Amino acid sequence: MTIFQFPTFADQLHDDLLMKRTTDSDYTGLGNDLEKGASVNEVPKTASMRVFLQPRWVSAIDHMRCARFRLLVLSLLLLPSTVSLAQPYQGPIIDAHGHLGASFNWEIMVEAMDRNNVTHRTVMARYYPGPEGSRDLPGSDEDALRLAERYPAKFFPLVGMQQPLLTGPHKWRSPDHEVERLIEETERKLASGRFFGVGEFIVRHWAYSRGSHAEQENPIYSTFMQRMSAIATRFDVPMVVHMEGYPALVDDFSKLLSEYPKARFVWAHNCGRSKSPVIRGMLTRHPNLFCDLANMTNVGTTGYGIGWPRREEFTALIEQGGVLFPDMKALYEEFPDCFMLGMDVAHAPGNNPQIYSQRVNRFRQLLGQLKPETARKLAEANAIPIFKLSSNSTR
Ligand SMILES: [Zn+2]
Repeated sequence: MTIFQFPTFADQLHDDLLMKRTTDSDYTGLGNDLEKGASVNEVPKTASMRVFLQPRWVSAIDHMRCARFRLLVLSLLLLPSTVSLAQPYQGPIIDAHGHLGASFNWEIMVEAMDRNNVTHRTVMARYYPGPEGSRDLPGSDEDALRLAERYPAKFFPLVGMQQPLLTGPHKWRSPDHEVERLIEETERKLASGRFFGVGEFIVRHWAYSRGSHAEQENPIYSTFMQRMSAIATRFDVPMVVHMEGYPALVDDFSKLLSEYPKARFVWAHNCGRSKSPVIRGMLTRHPNLFCDLANMTNVGTTGYGIGWPRREEFTALIEQGGVLFPDMKALYEEFPDCFMLGMDVAHAPGNNPQIYSQRVNRFRQLLGQLKPETARKLAEANAIPIFKLSSNSTR
């Protein structure tokens, strides 16, 4: 889940992440080109030469810095023209990562979807209180059901797992009576046939606001997740998981995926913002694993796609300036059936057509860089079988 964003280009330029991004080795293209300038190591290193060459050396470094800056500016100027070469994806889109709170205005949700040719949206009730208090009240599965009833075949509720009662790793290891009740309720709700999955399980989450549920560190390989995986298998529904890709957690997730091969898992945010080799490894080993690209567009001043609210050694972005990084693009072509899109509006203040359109439009631009068939699969075709979406309001 993520908060709303108000983009300003100036803010992005001020952000030192931008410079970091262009020098990280996994940011191919722009980043690599910048690294290919003359190296200080190429300057001869004998003592006499060093003395003789020092003024030139200094000026060479200055020149290099200047050249790097010019290259950066030039690259930023050239990016839009590179992007315009590919026609944006024009077809319908399924938003496979949506949330709901009691303060969400339903008409605005629908307007944002209709304006952008987004035909379906999954809805995961956010039981956590929002950072803006009374403007962003928690939601419930009952709200999600009412929304789905009001707009049939448009919204598809999942049994919500953004639950304050799940905060604390001990509750995942040995469920207390509250967690037991949640497990029982989940079974009952799935048995009604009106829910299309379970999630978002908040395993490892980086805080972007204050409060006791903001930072989460829960075990994925735990009794709670094993119980839920068995239930999801029985009802043939996917589980959506938010887990930043810490290597130890990835290993634990791998154990869970192997233990429940018939349970489908959707690892949100481009598989926990993992780097492409990690995602490739996991998708190769586990046919029951899928990824959504929820909020992975690199737009605005917040959002997972800009490396917010935190970045680590093991995290990666998927695009910059509306251009997919080549390694991610290759990954989507290699596993065209495994990825889906998501706008991930999780808080009422961010529920507006401007932010929604900005994310959808950027996804259309990115999809335009893939083979048309791959683009169509990511945009809508994959979400249908993974969530078993239908024109009925029951499964
Ligand atoms: Zn999430």
